[in-house]
Amino acid sequence: MQPLLEIVRKSTAFLEQRGIDQPRLNAEWLIAHALGLRRMDLYLQFERPLIEAELARIRPLVRRRAQREPLAHILGTAEFAGLTLRTDRRALIPRPETEELVEHLVAKLRPPPARVLDLGTGTGAIALALARAWPECRVTALDRSAEALALARENAALTALASRVEFLLSDWWSAVPAAPRYPLIVSNPPYLSPAEFASAEPEVREFEPPTALVAQGEGLADFQTILTVAPAHLTPDGWLALETGPDQHPALLALAEAAGFAHRESIADLSGRPRFLLLSQAVPEPTTTSAAQ
Ligand code: GLN
Repeated sequence: MQPLLEIVRKSTAFLEQRGIDQPRLNAEWLIAHALGLRRMDLYLQFERPLIEAELARIRPLVRRRAQREPLAHILGTAEFAGLTLRTDRRALIPRPETEELVEHLVAKLRPPPARVLDLGTGTGAIALALARAWPECRVTALDRSAEALALARENAALTALASRVEFLLSDWWSAVPAAPRYPLIVSNPPYLSPAEFASAEPEVREFEPPTALVAQGEGLADFQTILTVAPAHLTPDGWLALETGPDQHPALLALAEAAGFAHRESIADLSGRPRFLLLSQAVPEPTTTSAAQ
């Protein structure tokens, strides 16, 4: 019988040899999951010999990861802004950059907006994180994928936020009513060009829905649809907040100006790349950035 630590080491070596990023961390997550433990608990049991039944639960998970299936799909969940969300092939796995967008909005919009519209909600990550951060806020989360919307609904139930989040099957604006208008519209739309998608890691290319990732026109097509119609759905001093690709701000700032956004803020992600846009038709007063109505 082999001690747990030995299995952690062997699994790490196997994943490393298969080109998996952060092989030790991946091995620990998978083994903890297979054994029904928290990852940190492994450290208290490294000497424990594993029985064959335990090894038989670990092996297939490590094998799946070696074949580049995303960790979040194997575990079935991912952490996002303090929420545990169900993750599978129906929607994009929530990314750390998108947590940054949520953090910027929560820090900036004071008092919080009374209503939010999340375009292309996927797992529901942004919609649910904002609903949790803003207890008085009502959120509308839309997606054109019925499957993604079903997953987002499951996540609303799992996070006990379903009472304040409403779901709408809509291809961007197609089913969004003319009223009410929103003080905040937020989106992490598809923005990879087809060429970028083709060179993405296998975890992305082979397991995540291309419809959540790829946009035509150098990845700008969906932004164009969002930017041109958003003013009709925003309150006069409302905000449009977008996650973008790191090379897209020059083109997007021009599109935003043409769409009537007088205030345009480009925000960098933690690695210093321009990654988020905060847009408003009204120029906020220097001392206040209120989005209240
Ligand atoms: N950040 C994602 C990636 O590079 C893309 C997300 C998106 O297209 N909205 O995989």
